[in-house]
Amino acid sequence: MIARLKLTHLPTPVEPLLRLSTQLGVRLSIKRDDLTGPALGGNKARKLEYVLAEALAVGAKTLVTVGAAQSNHCRQTAALAARLGMKCILVLSGDAGNAADGNVLVDQLLGAEIIWTTKERRAETLKAAFDKAWEDGLRPYLIPLGASNGLGSIAYATAFDEMLGQLLEEPPDWIVVASSSGGTQAGLALGAKRSKFGGRVLGISIDHPAGELRETVAFLANEAGSRLKEKNILHPEDIWVCDDYLGSGYGVMSVAERNAIHLFANTEGILLDPVYTGRAAAGLMDLIRKGYFQPNDKILFWHTGGIPALFAEPYASQLC
Ligand SMILES: *Cc1c(COP(=O)(O)O)cnc(C)c1O
Repeated sequence: MIARLKLTHLPTPVEPLLRLSTQLGVRLSIKRDDLTGPALGGNKARKLEYVLAEALAVGAKTLVTVGAAQSNHCRQTAALAARLGMKCILVLSGDAGNAADGNVLVDQLLGAEIIWTTKERRAETLKAAFDKAWEDGLRPYLIPLGASNGLGSIAYATAFDEMLGQLLEEPPDWIVVASSSGGTQAGLALGAKRSKFGGRVLGISIDHPAGELRETVAFLANEAGSRLKEKNILHPEDIWVCDDYLGSGYGVMSVAERNAIHLFANTEGILLDPVYTGRAAAGLMDLIRKGYFQPNDKILFWHTGGIPALFAEPYASQLC
C-alpha cells in the first residue's frame, strides 16, 4: 500500500452535459475534478494526497514548490500546507508587480511565502530557496512542478478507477483532458492500461510538442507503475496527445479559449479556466467539428479545475 492522506472531497461527480451534447451533436459528459475541495479545488489536490503523505513521513515541516504566477498547483499546495500546519514557500515566475489577483490572491490568503522569479531563472531560484530553507532548519520538502512525479501520478490511476466505477454501465470511448506537466494524463493512462480499458485517453497539450509530452507521460506512467509493482509498461506510442492547440503559448488566451469558456458557462453553467480547461475544451470542440470522433462515441471531458485564474488579469478583462 502506498501511503495517502485524505484531504479531498471524493468521489467527484460525473455529470452528463445534455445541452452541450445536443448543441455539438455528440454524447458528452464531464468529470468534475474542479470540485476536489481544497481552496477552490483542481487536479493537484489528488496528487498531493500521495506526495504530502511522503512529506509527513520524512518529517518535513515546510513545503517548497514552483509554478507560473497563476499556478493552480501552487495554490492547492498552499491550501494543504495550511491545513496540515506546515509552512509553504512558492517560487512563482512572473512579475512581482502583478496585482495580487486570482491564484496569487488565494496563495497570500493561505499564508504562503512567495518568491518571485523569471521563467528562465525558475529552477535556480527554486534551488536557492530550498537550500536556504534547509539551512534555516525549516525541514523543507521539494514538490516538483505540478506534483508530477511517479508518486503524484498514482493519484490519477486511482482517479481512473473511481471514474470507471461511476460509469460501469457505459464507460466512455474517449477521455479528453488538459495535459501539461503530464502527471494527470500519466495516471489516467496507467489506470486505463491496467483495467484493460477499451477507450482512449487523449491529452490536449497545453504547452509542449506532442512528441515531448508523450515521452514525459509514458515516463511518469512507468514511474507510477513501478511504485505500484505493476507489470504493464507504457511506451510513448501508447500515449494519445494532440498538440494542435498550443496557440501563442502557455497562458495566452485566444478567441478559441474564450469561446469555449463562454459556451460551457452559457449552456451548462460550468466554469472553465483560461489556461488549461478552456484550451482543452476549445481543442475538443474543434476536433468534434472536424469529425475526429465517431458519431456515437461517448466522450468524457475531465475537468481539472483552475477557476481562480478567471479572476486574474489579463484574463478577467478579456473575458467580457
Ligand atoms: C496543472 C493543471 C493541468 C495539467 O495537469 P498536469 O498533470 O500538469 O498535466 C490541467 N488543468 C489545470 C487546471 C491545472 O492546474
